[in-house]
Amino acid sequence: MKRDTVVLVTGASRGIGRETARQFALAGCRVGIQALNRYDLAEQLAGELSQAGCQVLALQADVRDRSQVDAMVARLCQSWGPVDVLVNNAGIAQQKLFTDISEQDWDLMFAVHVKGTFHCCQAVIPDMVRRQAGKIINVSSIWGLTGASCEVHYAAAKAAVIGLTKSLAKELGPSHIQVNCVAPGVIETDMIAGLDEPGRNELLVQTPLGVMGSPADIAHTICFLASDKAAFITGQVISPNGGFLI
Ligand code: NAP
Repeated sequence: MKRDTVVLVTGASRGIGRETARQFALAGCRVGIQALNRYDLAEQLAGELSQAGCQVLALQADVRDRSQVDAMVARLCQSWGPVDVLVNNAGIAQQKLFTDISEQDWDLMFAVHVKGTFHCCQAVIPDMVRRQAGKIINVSSIWGLTGASCEVHYAAAKAAVIGLTKSLAKELGPSHIQVNCVAPGVIETDMIAGLDEPGRNELLVQTPLGVMGSPADIAHTICFLASDKAAFITGQVISPNGGFLI
């Protein structure tokens, strides 16, 4: 990763996004650490990384809201210039029978994952096109590839993120902008903290490597996709999942 690369990681207060922001910052990038409700955690991470000599900025925004996203990107631009790498990672999960999913549940799921990704991409792409360079990494899920019982709205939104990624990669390739997707398997974060013991065991049994992934496993993949080593990769879905889906 080139020093001073400007990176925006959404959903970086916790879990995968937090570790991703940390890895980019420790690699010498300038990193916007976006949070929503746990802005305190983003500030805490920013403080920790600043102490270690990193260049970081804690940012608060709801990715569902266009004006908040635009203000966040403008603030980052003012500090360091245009965004070189965007990581659309912010997400929520919900388990419900399909027939119990309300219209509000459905809209919220799509607003965070699909509209949020749409907003953040539109906020950074004009500058990327002007500079004929940039990398976008969207975080989907294995459920977006395989489908998931009792998470139809989540799986459908994550599948939409994959469609968005592939389409954008085609549209932006001629402008030398790479768009890729990471579709994690089961990762040990707050998002799966609600799983009961039988549920966890079932997932482990279905995972050939027999372990859950860590946020670092996904962060490494994201950082690789943002690096020069991935210069010929675009429109792809990379799924670190312990063999859950082969
Ligand atoms: P997490 O620990 O629950 O963190 C979710 C992050 O998203 C938090 O930083 C949260 O911010 C942010 N966020 C939620 N709604 C937002 C909104 N409307 N606007 C801005 N930020 C918002 O989740 P995680 O496990 O790290 O998941 C990260 C991504 O990986 C998600 O897209 C998830 O769907 C995907 N994923 C996770 C797994 C897994 O097993 N964990 C598997 C496959 C895919 P605040 O805390 O500040 O509100």
